[in-house]
Formats: sequence, structure tokens, C-alpha cells
Amino acid sequence: MKWQAVKGTHDVLPEQQAAWRQLLAAVELELGRAGARELSTPVFEYSEVFEKSVGESADLVVQKEMYTFEDRGGRRLTLRPEFTAGVLRAFIEHGMHTLPTPVKLWSAGPLFRAENVQRGRYRQFHQVNLEIIGLSQALADAEAIDLLYRTLRACGLTRVRMRVGSVGDPDDRAAYNAYLRRELEPLRARLSEASRERLRLNPMRVLDSKAEQDAAVLEGLKRPIDFLGGAARAHLDEVLERLRDWDVPFEIDPGIVRGLDYYRRTAFEAHYEGIGSQSALGGGGRYDGLIESLGGPPLPAVGWAMGSERVLDAMEQEQAVAAPPDRPVLFLVPLDEDAVNEVAALAVRLRRAHRVEHAYAPRNPGKGLRDADRRGAVYAGLRGASERAGDEVQLKHLGSGEQTRVRVAELERFLQEVS
Ligand code: AMP
Repeated sequence: MKWQAVKGTHDVLPEQQAAWRQLLAAVELELGRAGARELSTPVFEYSEVFEKSVGESADLVVQKEMYTFEDRGGRRLTLRPEFTAGVLRAFIEHGMHTLPTPVKLWSAGPLFRAENVQRGRYRQFHQVNLEIIGLSQALADAEAIDLLYRTLRACGLTRVRMRVGSVGDPDDRAAYNAYLRRELEPLRARLSEASRERLRLNPMRVLDSKAEQDAAVLEGLKRPIDFLGGAARAHLDEVLERLRDWDVPFEIDPGIVRGLDYYRRTAFEAHYEGIGSQSALGGGGRYDGLIESLGGPPLPAVGWAMGSERVLDAMEQEQAVAAPPDRPVLFLVPLDEDAVNEVAALAVRLRRAHRVEHAYAPRNPGKGLRDADRRGAVYAGLRGASERAGDEVQLKHLGSGEQTRVRVAELERFLQEVS
């Protein structure tokens, strides 16, 4: 067997960590300012938690993507393919419905889906997820959309495009699904296999297909927005009005649908040009019936998830990552046996305030300087018999080549001044 990461999974290498931290810092700041608090849930749950939330007419495409297994006690468990179900399970389990509404919860971490792997589509990937629970007003939908936009801006992205639409109330959805069945049934044979399956279970999802053959069939057909009843239409208009008020740029997308069938009314996505065909950075919507169907109180909710890998890809495109320098300010080189423990002790002391590294065995000056250089150190500090006599370190600035002797007692202050 080959020692390599499983297809569709990635290591986050040391040099990539700063970008991840920057993303999460932006999330924490933006969502925290809006009163959202962080909730972490386990990576796996009883399978029913996800099966139930995916819905009766569960899209087989979604079901097949789940990593489900039996543990040693014979329990059926699933690695989370999305955040919402687990977050709501925790919300109900901990009685959070007694907290003042709205309850705003954000989460971040890995998700697992057995997908066809391509750029921007992986089997282990990460999301940041937000839920706003307890508000049915359009104001909450607009706040959710604004927060997604604002969070992406805070990550340093300037080319984000928000798309907003509506899948309507359950009756509107049913009418639209009936319309699609009527129109598409005669054209079944021309649809992709996945779309034929969706046509049977949840026709609206055919609109989500990226297959070219499906696009041709769908051309000219009406979109969910054409089937909105009065209440859903008024709700959408109100959401759009708030977004205009708050200067959140958006386009109306008449054909927007969400993957799972618990969504109703508002649906939205954030897109980005320049990260390949998988251009959605995030998406969300309103899901008023879901908490009740999971055994909780009848609370409305709206939320979104954004894909961290895609956001990082976009951050790289815009060179939005402000990586702090990843190098020691000082690399100490012992020139003789006695100096090995001396420089180690010195490093331990200086690390209270500075990044200091050292060689672990005596080096000659040439090799020692090369070691320091390979680590990108700002200064190399040599210590041997002559430095010991004056209790000093001989410092060399590796950029300019300039040399100075600094007394050990003064070293901490010296580093303070140069860092
Ligand atoms: P979803 O949970 O499917 O609504 O996806 C929300 C966001 O997560 C998408 O807009 C993507 O940015 C990201 N995403 C979804 N699936 C994947 C995947 N397989 N690999 C990487 N990112 C993904």
C-alpha cells in the first residue's frame, strides 16, 4: 500500500496554517460582533440525526454521499456531512430554546462526503456554519445574508457576488415540483442519471445539476421564483429591501435551490470568479420546520455554511493572506562542547519573549551560519571559548553580514529592540 492521504483529503501543512488562522479569526470577529457564539459538536452522530434532517424524500445523491458505519456495539453512526443537523440536535438536547431568542450559533470544522473529487470538491473538507434560531422575520434572513457577505469581506475577498432567491412555502414548492414533473417527465431520457433520480424524489433539485445535458433540457422552463405565493413573495421583497438598505450587493437568482428539502422561502449563495467551476463559496436559507421534525419545539431558523477550502483558494487568488514571518529572530550556534548546554539554557530563557532556535551539537562557524541561514533566522549567535571569556554572544545579521558582540545579560533587550 502507498503511504499517501486518502483521495479527496488533504494535509494542512505548516506554511498553510497562517491562512487558516486568518480565516477563523475573521469568522470569530464578524460573527461574534453579531452576537453569535461558537458551538462545537462531535464529528460523528447517530445516523438517524442526518437521515431525519435530510428528509423523507431524501435525495439519494445526498444519502449515498454519507460515510456511515457500524461501531463495535452495532450502532449505526455517520461522519457528519453537514453541520445543521448536529447543531440542532445539540440545541434541542441542551434545551437552548429557553435562551433569549434569537439564538445565534456558529461552528467550524471538518465534514465528510463521498463525492466525485475535483478542484473545490473534496471528501474531507471544512465549513464555517451559522444558524440564527427563533426568528421568522425577513430581517433575520437579511442578517444571515449580510453576515455571510461581511465574513467573506473580512477574509480579504473583494470579488464576492451574492445571489438571492426563494424556493417558496411548502405549497409553492409542491406546485413547482408538480409543474417540473409534468414538463420533464416526457424528456426523462435526455436527463442525466442523477437528475432522473431527482425528478422522482425532489424535482426541484434537478435545477442544481451541473451536467450540460440537463442545462439544455431545463432551458425555457419556469423557475421556483415564478411560483411564489403572496406570502413568500412579500417575504423575499422584504429581504431584498433590507439588503439594499445595508448596501449589500446582490443579484436575484430566480432558479436558486438548496440541496436538502427542508429549506423554505429564502435561499442564497455567495459566488467567486476565478476558483474554477465550483464557484460557490457558501450558501444557505431558511428552514422553519426542521427543528420540530427533529423532535424540538416549533422554532423557525435561517442559516448558512461556507466552504473553507474554497474561501482559502479565493484568498490566495486575491493575495489576501497576511502571513506573519515564519522564522526565528535568533539561531544560536555552539562552537564547542561546553557551549551546547549554554546556548540551550540561553534559548530557554529568551523564548519567554522571542522565537529562538539553536544547534544541538558543536558546529564550526561556517556550518553554523549555514544552519542559521537555512532556518531563515534574522541573526546567528555564535558562542565559543572567546565569547565565554566575556560572557558574550557574537551576533551576525544574516541579511547585511554586520557583526556585533552582545553581552548575554543584554541579549534580551537587544532582541526586543530589533524585533
Ligand atoms: P452545502 O453544505 O452543500 O450547502 O455547501 C456549502 C458550501 O460548502 C459550498 O458552497 C462549498 O463552498 C462548500 N462545499 C460543499 N461541498 C464541498 C466539498 N465536497 N468540498 C469542498 N467544499 C464543499
